[in-house]
Amino acid sequence: MNLFDICQDKLNRIKAEDRYRVFADLEKQADKYPYYKHYRDGRVEQVLVWCSNDYLAMGGSDLLVNAVHEAVDQTGVGAGGTRNISGTSHYHVELEAELADWHRKEAALLFTSGYIANEASLSTLLSASPNMDVFSDQKNHASMIQGIRKGTARRHIFRHNDLEHLRELLEAADPESHKMVAFESVYSMDGDIGKIEEICDLAHEFNAITYLDEVHAVGMYGPRGAGIAERDGVLDKVDLIEGTLGKAVGVHGGYLAGPAHVLDYIRSVAPGFIFTTSLPPITAAAAAASIRHLKVSGQERAMQQRQAARLKQAFADAGLPVMPSESHIVPLLVGDPAKARDFSNRLLYDHNIYVTAINYPTVDKGTERLRFTPTPRHTDAMIEDLVDILVPMFNEAGIRKRA
Ligand SMILES: *Cc1c(COP(=O)(O)O)cnc(C)c1O
Repeated sequence: MNLFDICQDKLNRIKAEDRYRVFADLEKQADKYPYYKHYRDGRVEQVLVWCSNDYLAMGGSDLLVNAVHEAVDQTGVGAGGTRNISGTSHYHVELEAELADWHRKEAALLFTSGYIANEASLSTLLSASPNMDVFSDQKNHASMIQGIRKGTARRHIFRHNDLEHLRELLEAADPESHKMVAFESVYSMDGDIGKIEEICDLAHEFNAITYLDEVHAVGMYGPRGAGIAERDGVLDKVDLIEGTLGKAVGVHGGYLAGPAHVLDYIRSVAPGFIFTTSLPPITAAAAAASIRHLKVSGQERAMQQRQAARLKQAFADAGLPVMPSESHIVPLLVGDPAKARDFSNRLLYDHNIYVTAINYPTVDKGTERLRFTPTPRHTDAMIEDLVDILVPMFNEAGIRKRA
């Protein structure tokens, strides 16, 4: 077998395990969101999307579309360089100032995505000292895991959100080593929330710095939308905050906020920051417009929370196996990869409703699910229709209530 045959072989195994991913050919419609066009079999259908991370429907808002129009007239399209080689525009500089202010940190540093922000920042920081330990929540996102693996620090995985286990690991480590605790605020597949204050206090007891991924929370929580750390009044306790501009902010890109000299160091050495063309200035312009708005408007957040609560309640009332979530994320447990995929396909092809099946390796085997992310544009009528369609499907498959 040559290498390409091996690829085919591995692909066949993925298909046999129901892990093969098919991308729906969609097109977001700014004025009709959450309705998208779905291109299939030479036709175009209108589908209702229930799994977008554009949680607040900012992506298609006039505010952002106009910001892009203005910026594109001003500056054209691409950045035309890395940050170091003519690719830093005033749009980037302004956005970084907005972000630092948002999280009440000295500075912020932009990356081309949230994934790169985590990978580049963690791998850089975790290689800065020859004697270092990192403590990583078991449910951390793949981008954090990749960054942690690339660093040279000794790795310790603590059981999800388990303070006792974290303490045990911290106590067992070299008291002289440099330490970091890395975790998330909203865990995006279960919708539960990290114990930020307790984890930070514990980390600081051991002189560990705290690194928090707020990707699913920025824009969504807190009086100015800066995330769970803001909502809980503990921004000070979090040393480094990582976020995305691609989810609730509605655009694209990632960042790290924290002490200016730490970001200056990452900026100066991280290959994932240095050797890549900077974000398009129009993207930075749109993100800055979105954040400026979300700092002062709580309306989108309130409406989103309302619809998320309604959806959870509607699922529970109908006896559907809604998983306990403390956040805006609403997962329905299916517990079988083939069924999850079948449900998703039937919703799409028979009902023009799109919600992706979440299967292994994104979640553990046996916990396959459909993950719903309502936005302010998902109406009560849409929720009722959805429940009416799901109930017979789950009944037929013999899945009821929480497993
Ligand atoms: C989506 C996600 C990222 C990556 O952000 P992108 O901007 O999409 O690259 C990082 N962390 C978590 C927890 C995520 O869910």
